[in-house]
Amino acid sequence: MTSPSHWPFDNSYANLPGQFYSRLEPSPVTRPGPIRINRELAAELGLDADWLASGAGTRVLAGNALPAGAEPLAAVYAGHQFGGFNPQLGDGRAILLGEVVSPSGERFDIQLKGSGRTPYSRGGDGRSPLGPVLREYIVSEAMHVLGVPTSRALAAVTTGDTVYRDRALPGAVLTRVARSHIRIGSFEFFAARRDTGALQQLADHVIARHYPEAASAANPALALLEGVIRRQAALVSRWQLLGFIHGVMNTDNMLLSGETIDYGPCAFMDDFHPETVFSSIDHNGRYAWCNQPSIAHWNLSVLAQCLLPLLHQDEQEGVKLAQAAVDRFPEQFLAAHQAGVNRKLGWQQSRDGDRELVEELFELMAAERVDFTLFFRRLADFAAPASAAPKVEELMPLPARFLPWMQRWQARCDAEGGNPEQRQAAMYQANPAFIPRNHLVEAAIAAAVEREDFQPFHSLVKRLRNPFDYELADRRYALPPQPSEVVHQTFC
Ligand code: AMP
Ligand code: MG
Ligand code: MG
Repeated sequence: MTSPSHWPFDNSYANLPGQFYSRLEPSPVTRPGPIRINRELAAELGLDADWLASGAGTRVLAGNALPAGAEPLAAVYAGHQFGGFNPQLGDGRAILLGEVVSPSGERFDIQLKGSGRTPYSRGGDGRSPLGPVLREYIVSEAMHVLGVPTSRALAAVTTGDTVYRDRALPGAVLTRVARSHIRIGSFEFFAARRDTGALQQLADHVIARHYPEAASAANPALALLEGVIRRQAALVSRWQLLGFIHGVMNTDNMLLSGETIDYGPCAFMDDFHPETVFSSIDHNGRYAWCNQPSIAHWNLSVLAQCLLPLLHQDEQEGVKLAQAAVDRFPEQFLAAHQAGVNRKLGWQQSRDGDRELVEELFELMAAERVDFTLFFRRLADFAAPASAAPKVEELMPLPARFLPWMQRWQARCDAEGGNPEQRQAAMYQANPAFIPRNHLVEAAIAAAVEREDFQPFHSLVKRLRNPFDYELADRRYALPPQPSEVVHQTFC
């Protein structure tokens, strides 16, 4: 029997040389208090949720005590932020406790976010206010059940300390779980210092953890690059088709594992418009919804550049290999995007004329500013109008301008054939009724911050666990915001 406080640590990043990180412990907080434990995730990781919820567990999750086997560290990295290179970043408010290997044999980083200053904090306080912790918990867990590779939230705790931003706010710590936290910026750090040895060690580490098949490829570094490009193409296509706007796609916020990370100023679109931006710091719309694929492409070219010394002894040959790999991103993104669009529209195969039909749809959606989520859900209702499934029709009147398009979509579905009820069931699984809408997230945060009422947060987390199962009783979670509830800007 292992004790409940025993975590199945097997730390590999901490075995890399010291230049990859600084070892240090989280800074204690005044009064650790539990908010929420993610019991399902705890079970997946082989951790005891009851112990995590206990006083001893809460102290560990706040950074006031260390579980046996932890080797806490802050990782160093660099990164392009809004296009400008910063040669020295790093975990400024996060501490990696270590890696656990789950009962199913998968390896996960366990990181405390908001756990105090580190050598990479620059001017920052190393802390996190409660609001961003709750937002990350809600949105990252929602993304996971929506089928998007993502970092996850194991726990949120309060600190009893005040964090000063534009005003005094309660502090909190999030326990973040990810397959690793190695970023494009991790490679940039060593590339900028022309440290080819460290680049090779980091590449070998990432290959062993995330791309084991690349180890036996003729050119492992190239296979790594190709693998990362494939996963990012798939990832960003998923964001696009959920109307998710990451908000801060800096190269230090893009993981080699292909998971979404950094839920700072992110947001889901309500009304569809391609140029939508929410982040208060994104003045030029660099990270608008419509720009996300090309920004991912740009970020991947930065990774390719970093890997050049590993790709070929001859630099010119390396450049050719890197360029060819990066040039494949657009077609890979489009293939993933098209497959996703087909799922959303209820189509099993692609057919001639689909592209025009899809382009017209997005143009119409933008012109009418329809609700992105409810529009697709409503379309699924139409796939089998007489079925017994609860429908969103009362939430989403379809503008008359869509009728000619709908007739062509229906004809396209008929031409493909198949059972309408089955098509509808598949469309319901591709088109959520519930997403973490900004006004609901903001209301949950406001209740917690201003009234210490965590009930809206818990209810929202719970409702979002089944995003594809629409129930009339929960219609308020599916409704777009009233004009007075619309969130125009998000803040990190
Ligand atoms: P982000 O915009 O969240 O990707 O953060 C960019 C960089 O700023 C990272 O190196 C973070 O660790 C650091 N950072 C952000 N907030 C803080 C903070 N409150 N204290 C210290 N470092 C921070
Ligand atoms: Mg970041
Ligand atoms: Mg952030």
